[in-house]
Amino acid sequence: MPSTRLTAFASTDVGRTRDHNEDVVAISMAGPAAAPYHVWLVADGMGGGVKGEVASATARDRALATLARAKDWRDPALVLADAVREANSAVYSRGTANGELSRSAMGTTLVLALAEPASGRYWVANVGDSRAYTWADRQLRQLTRDHSLVAEQVAAGILSAEEARLPEAPRNVITRAIGTDSAVQADVFGPATLAPGDQLVLCSDGLHGLVDDVEIAAILSEHPLAEAPGALIAAANAAGGSDNISVLVAGWAAAAPATATELPPVIHVDSERVRPWRRYAFVALGLLAAAAVVAALALMLSGGSSGDDDANSTPTAQRSGEATTPVAGAGSARPGASGGQGR
Ligand code: CA
Repeated sequence: MPSTRLTAFASTDVGRTRDHNEDVVAISMAGPAAAPYHVWLVADGMGGGVKGEVASATARDRALATLARAKDWRDPALVLADAVREANSAVYSRGTANGELSRSAMGTTLVLALAEPASGRYWVANVGDSRAYTWADRQLRQLTRDHSLVAEQVAAGILSAEEARLPEAPRNVITRAIGTDSAVQADVFGPATLAPGDQLVLCSDGLHGLVDDVEIAAILSEHPLAEAPGALIAAANAAGGSDNISVLVAGWAAAAPATATELPPVIHVDSERVRPWRRYAFVALGLLAAAAVVAALALMLSGGSSGDDDANSTPTAQRSGEATTPVAGAGSARPGASGGQGR
């Protein structure tokens, strides 16, 4: 029997009705150089305009940067909690950055896992209604609890599980999110162990809101690890694709060298589009060009006597210095049109 190694595959899809993708997924490694941990992440942003995708990308970037910097790995649960706290601070700072805002204008869900490659021991932290499931002994179990109004009403016996799935149930109302308040409490699970054959599934509500647990289990049982994210996304799109869909599936795969039949993780390239520094750089270049045209016109009109033409370009050019820290590691947001809202 071939030996196996712990690995993960992930994909994110805009779905069939949204015009851009506010979800992000990431696969990375962090921790002691001698024994790094797998890092798996799904985030689902919210806010008008581009705020949702900025929120989820900001949370991803800060969480990965915090893990990359972490020195003390004696308790991975504490490392996870710190990454969640830092992600919250980063998104909250952005959401309140325009000055007098007392409430953050953006937020995101976050489900973040660490796993030991050799043992399969793992830890999961979550905020919001993106989920982690375990698939073991052909049983699908929801590991996380949704921080949503509907889930709380089900837990309190106000709604039945069936009523919670009705179209009129307010499933979009989430009760805890990254970045909406100055502090947030994550639920942290673990350590638990992924035994050979077991899988860990992270997903946004674009999957679990449209594809029920029975169908998710059937798809996991029918597909190899590398194909499971794509098959689950296809099922959500077949059910309407009314939201962005993100799926990460981790488990044990054959340890043989990669071959043409082993699909690589599809999400190792960062989306350039959501990097704010690049947007600012283009804006600054455009304004500089406009300032140069204005200056040339002023020179022509004034006969070349003006001496302060460059004054206006300076503050604008400095905006390109507002770069967010580029993040080592992996992540992706699917490119798409900007604008629109919803979660
Ligand atoms: Ca969503």
